[in-house]
Amino acid sequence: MTVEAHKETRGFQTEIKQLLNLMIHSLYSNKEIFLRELVSNASDAADKLRFAALSDDALYEGDAELKIWVELNSEAKTVTIRDNGIGMSRDEVVENIGTIAKSGTQAFFKSLTGDEAKDSQLIGQFGVGFYSSFIVADKVTLITRKAGLEKSHGVRWESAGDGEFSIENVERDSHGTEVILHLRDGEEEFTQDYRVQSIIKKYSDHIAFPIILPKINTDEETKEITVENETINSAKALWMRGKNEISEEEYQEFYKHVSHDFDAPLTWMHNKVEGTQEYTSLLYIPARAPFDLWDRRNRHGVKLYVRRVFIMDDDEHLLPPYLRFIRGVIDSNDLPLNVSREILQNNKQIDTIRGGTVKKILSSLESMAKNDAEKYQTFWKEFGRVFKEGVVDDTSNKERIAKLLRFSSTHDSKEEPEISLENYVSRMQEGQDKIFYITADNFAGALSSPHLEIFRKKGIEVLLLTDQVDEWLVMHLTEFDGKQLQSVTKGDLDLTNLESEEEKQEAEKAKEEVQPLVERIQTALTEKVKEVQVTHRLTSSPACLVADAHGMDASLERLLKQAGQEIPDSKPVMEINPTHPLITKLKDVSDDDKFKDWAFILFDQALLSEGGQLEDPSAFVSRINQMLVQ
Ligand code: ADP
Repeated sequence: MTVEAHKETRGFQTEIKQLLNLMIHSLYSNKEIFLRELVSNASDAADKLRFAALSDDALYEGDAELKIWVELNSEAKTVTIRDNGIGMSRDEVVENIGTIAKSGTQAFFKSLTGDEAKDSQLIGQFGVGFYSSFIVADKVTLITRKAGLEKSHGVRWESAGDGEFSIENVERDSHGTEVILHLRDGEEEFTQDYRVQSIIKKYSDHIAFPIILPKINTDEETKEITVENETINSAKALWMRGKNEISEEEYQEFYKHVSHDFDAPLTWMHNKVEGTQEYTSLLYIPARAPFDLWDRRNRHGVKLYVRRVFIMDDDEHLLPPYLRFIRGVIDSNDLPLNVSREILQNNKQIDTIRGGTVKKILSSLESMAKNDAEKYQTFWKEFGRVFKEGVVDDTSNKERIAKLLRFSSTHDSKEEPEISLENYVSRMQEGQDKIFYITADNFAGALSSPHLEIFRKKGIEVLLLTDQVDEWLVMHLTEFDGKQLQSVTKGDLDLTNLESEEEKQEAEKAKEEVQPLVERIQTALTEKVKEVQVTHRLTSSPACLVADAHGMDASLERLLKQAGQEIPDSKPVMEINPTHPLITKLKDVSDDDKFKDWAFILFDQALLSEGGQLEDPSAFVSRINQMLVQ
C-alpha cells in the first residue's frame, strides 16, 4: 500500500453541511450528548478490534486491554475522547467521516420541513453520531491509526464544521482513535471533571469497556504532578446484570448506544435462557420506524455476542425479516467464538436461538396489546406494515401473528387500524360464518365502495384493507378461528343465511322479473364482462363489478399492473341492482344503440366507483352528455 502523506482539503458531501447546521441548532438544548455519541463510537471500535483479534492476535500490538479515555484540558479548552480500538485507515476516514452512508439519507432530507421544532425531532431519529461534536466544538481533530497497519499510516483529519475538512498522514505509535474537540467560547463547562463525570455516568455507564477520566493532581508544595486513572463506569456488559439491578434510564441509554437512535425505545425485553442453548437477550422495540425500515437489508439489526465478545451486527440470521425493526443484543454462551456468517446460515444452535427469541417478542407484543392498548397502537402505527409480512414469512407462528394484526373496519370507520380479528369475530352477526373484508388503494376508496352497501344495511362489519401488503396478507391468511376470510368484491356473495324468509322471496321475485334485462345487458357488454347477474350486494348503487371467486381482486390486479407485471386480462362479473331507478328505467329503452350506451355507462360507473381507470374516458363523457341532453 502506498501512503498518501500529502495533506489535502476536501469538501463534505453537501448533505453534511446541511445536517451540521440543523443539528447544531436543534440539539443545542441537549448538547452534552456529544460525549455519549463519541464514547459509543469508541466502544464500537473496541468491540471491532476484539473481534478482529480473535483470528489475529497480533492486531492488539501488545495492548489487549481495551479502554476509553476522556481527557480534559481547561487551559487549551479541549476535550479528547481516545480509544485503543480498531482505528481507521485514510480511506475509511474519508468514507466514514466525510460522507453519510446511511440508507434513507435522501428520504431524511426530503422529510425536513424547515420548521425547526419539527426538524429537530427528526434529527434525533436520524442519529448524527460523530457530527454531534460540532454542537460544542468549533474545530474537531481526529487522529487515528488502524490496528495492524504501520505507524506511518496514521491519519489526521480536521474540520471546523464549515463544509471542508483536511486530511493528511501522520506517524502514530498506537492503534485506535482520538477525537479532540476544541470547545467553542462558552462551552468551558465540558473541561470540568465533575461535569464530565456526571455526564458519563448518566449516559455511558453501561459501556462494557472501562472509561477512564484521568485526574491530574498538582502537589501544592512540591509542585509534583501525579495522574490518577479512575474508571468511572461499571464497565460490565449491561445485559449480564440482573434485571432488578438495572434502572429504566440505563436500559434506555443502552438502547441509544446499540440502535443509534436518539429517542427512548417503546419497550424492551430482557431474558436469560438456560437449557440446550444458553443465551441472554436484551431486545428493544423502537418508538419510531427508522428511515430504512423498508429496506429488507437493514443496516443495524441485532448485535450478536458470544460470551461477551461482540461478533457482528446481524440483520438476517438472528431474527426473521418481519421483525427487522427489533434492536439489541443476543449473547450466546455456546456458539464458537470463530462463528462466521457462513456458519450462521445453517446452524441448529442459531435456529434454536431464533425460534426462542421470536416467541419472546411475540409474547411481549401480546402482553402489550392486552395491557397497554395505546402503546400497542404506537407499535402498530410504526411497524404494523412490516409485522404483517410475518403471516407469510413465519408459518409456524401464523396464528399468534394473526391475533396481533390490527385493521380498520366499518365498525368505527376510523382510518387508524385498531380492530383485531378477535374483536371482529366477537361481533359477528347471527348466521354470519365469514370474516368479510375489502381491499382498496386507500381508506376513502374502501369506505365509499358500493360493495359495502348491503353490509351496512345488514349491520355486518367489513374490514377495510388499504396497505399494499394486505393483498398478500389475505392470500396467505385465508382463515381465522375457523372462519374463512372473504373478500366482499369477489365471487358469489352468499348472504342468504343472514336474510329473512320475506327478504329471500322478494329477492327471488325481483330476480325473475329482471331476467330478460340481464340477458340484454349481457349481450350489450359481451366484450367487457364475463357475466351479468342480479346482485344482493347493492342497496343504493345501480351496479358493481365483482371478481371471479378464484380470480384476482381488482385492486390486486391494479397493483400488479402498476408494478409492471403482465396480467392476463380477466373479465369481471357485473352485478346489477334490480330496484335501482336506473335499472327499472332501462327496461323501457327499446332502441338498441341507446340501450348499449346505457349499459356502457353502467359498466364504466361501476369501474370508477371502485377506483378503477376507464379505458376510454372521452367515450364515457360523450355518452353521459348525450344522456343528459335527452
Ligand atoms: P454511526 O456511529 O451512527 O455509524 P458516526 O457518524 O458516529 O455514525 O460514525 C461513522 C463511522 O465512523 C462509524 O460507523 C465508524 O465506522 C467510524 N468511526 C467513528 N468513530 C470511530 C472510532 N472511534 N474508531 C473507529 N471508527 C470510528
